[in-house]
Amino acid sequence: MNNDPLILAISILFGAIVGSFLNVVILRLPEENGSVVFPPSHCPRCKTSLSWFENIPLLSYLVLRGRCRHCHNPISLQYPAVEVLMSVLTAAIVYRFGLSVTAAGYFLFCAALLVIIWIDIHHQIIPDVISLPGIGLGFCFSFFNSFVSWQDSLIGLLAGGGILYAIALLYYLLRKQEGMGGGDIKLLAMIGAFLGWQSLPFVIFMSSITGSLIGLLAMIPQQKGGNTRIPFGPFLSCSALAYLFFRKDILRLFLLYFQ
Ligand SMILES: [Zn+2]
Repeated sequence: MNNDPLILAISILFGAIVGSFLNVVILRLPEENGSVVFPPSHCPRCKTSLSWFENIPLLSYLVLRGRCRHCHNPISLQYPAVEVLMSVLTAAIVYRFGLSVTAAGYFLFCAALLVIIWIDIHHQIIPDVISLPGIGLGFCFSFFNSFVSWQDSLIGLLAGGGILYAIALLYYLLRKQEGMGGGDIKLLAMIGAFLGWQSLPFVIFMSSITGSLIGLLAMIPQQKGGNTRIPFGPFLSCSALAYLFFRKDILRLFLLYFQ
């Protein structure tokens, strides 16, 4: 644990800078031949390249009052949102785990989840280039991780991938259509690798409940019946984040319930 105000302030700044890089990844990763370094940052509407002072995390958005300086089109709220979220997550990780290898590993985990959440919302895919290396990284990291042992990580990775695969197969056999994408399976394997198998009951329980609720709400205006597709990745990711920061309370509640 680290509650030094200076260290936390630096974490917030660092998180905002990384968040603005994540915005570029979210925008360009799903593009074919998308490069995250070239071309330099530009307005997605009028394509004008941004000068350095239009590219400062959060501040630029506030100073420009959410509009492009050239074409005056609104700038997506996603940009400041990702920057704020990454700032808060970075500070929370440093506060919780101090300046440690464990903190560094979970910093990468949170960054990966944020990218997955937004790409899944926009494109209904979870990119393999994030989830597959994430599975390997989560397992390697477990050898240096004070939060999860490598045995728990290995079981988590196998069970996470296996459980969802079984559910997806069952759903396919019953309804003859794909209910859950392969991307969700790889994402849960990555979550199991980073958080250990103990996280899986909560992550699956919480994401199914919140996912079904939001799914039902989304169906009301469309009147389409049971086939509205909503991406499941954001629910898995948010449940994983909740577990990362509230593990003790969550496990205590689970034990109370099952006793
Ligand atoms: Zn513009």
